[in-house]
Amino acid sequence: MRTAALLLVCGLTACSVSPDTTTASSPSPTDAGSATQPVPSASPSESASPDAPSQARRLAGVPDSFVRVRDVLPTALFEIRYAGEHNFLGRPVTGYAAPECWLTRPAAEALTKVQRQVSRRGYTIKIYDCFRPQRAVDDFVEWSGDPADTTTKAEFYPTLRKTQLFPLGYIAAQSGHSRGSTLDLTLVPKGEGVSPRWTSGDPLVACTAPVGRRFPDTSIDMGTGFDCFNPLANTANPDITAGQRANRRLLLRAMRKAGFTNYPEEWWHFTLKDEPYPETYFDAEITRGS
Ligand SMILES: [Zn+2]
Repeated sequence: MRTAALLLVCGLTACSVSPDTTTASSPSPTDAGSATQPVPSASPSESASPDAPSQARRLAGVPDSFVRVRDVLPTALFEIRYAGEHNFLGRPVTGYAAPECWLTRPAAEALTKVQRQVSRRGYTIKIYDCFRPQRAVDDFVEWSGDPADTTTKAEFYPTLRKTQLFPLGYIAAQSGHSRGSTLDLTLVPKGEGVSPRWTSGDPLVACTAPVGRRFPDTSIDMGTGFDCFNPLANTANPDITAGQRANRRLLLRAMRKAGFTNYPEEWWHFTLKDEPYPETYFDAEITRGS
C-alpha cells in the first residue's frame, strides 16, 4: 500500500510529493549475504576516473547515467545496511538483492571529491545507503504499519513507539534516495573496515548511547548510530559533545564543498544540490549490475 504522503527515513525536505513513477512492491530480495563487504582501504590514488572502466556496469530499470559507486570510488567502504539484517527492520529490505551503492554519475563524481578531501585528513568515507528503490520505501511503510514487530526498537527508536514513526516523518511514502543523488554516509579512520557483523537476535543497544556502549560502528563518533530515530541525530543538536560536533562538521564541510546539502534531521543524509532527476522516483532492484 502506498499513500500520497511525503517522504521517508532520511529526507523530509529531500522528499517532496511528485508523480509516482514506481511499480508495485516485488517479493523480498534474494540477498542472503551480509551488508558488509570489506573493500580496500583508502590509498593515495583516490581519484579513480569515473570514465575509466570500459566494463562499467549498468543497473536495469534506471537510466544509464547511474553508476555503481564501487567502480567509481573503490577506496570507499560500503556497509549497505538495508541489504543485511542490521537495520531498523531487522532483515533485508525488499529491493536490495545485493549490498551495492548506485548513484547518478554527477553524485558519484562529487563523492570522489569528498573522498579526496577527507583522505588528506586521515579518513575514508563509509557509505550506508545510496539509491533506494521505491519498492524498498514501500517495504518501510508496510513495516511501520505492523505494531507487533518491535524487534529493533531497543537500538533504532528507543524513545518512541513504533506507531509514531510515520506521523513524525521518520518513515514516509517517498524518499529522496529514490531519485538517485542522495546517500547516507559517515567517516572512518583510514585502516578501519566496516562494522562487525550483526545478525538478528544479537543484543541491541540504544543508538543514542555513548560510543563504546552502542553498536561498535567503525565510524568516528558522530553522537549517534546510523538511522537513529531520535533528535540527537539532528545535525545541529546542541546536546552532543564538542568532539562529536567537530566530527559532524568535518563531514558536513566536505560534503558541502563537493556540492551536497545535508538534511538537518540526520547527520548522515546528503543530497546533491544539482541532482539530475529532482522529481523522478525510480524503482529498480539493487543488484551488482551487468
Ligand atoms: Zn538517507
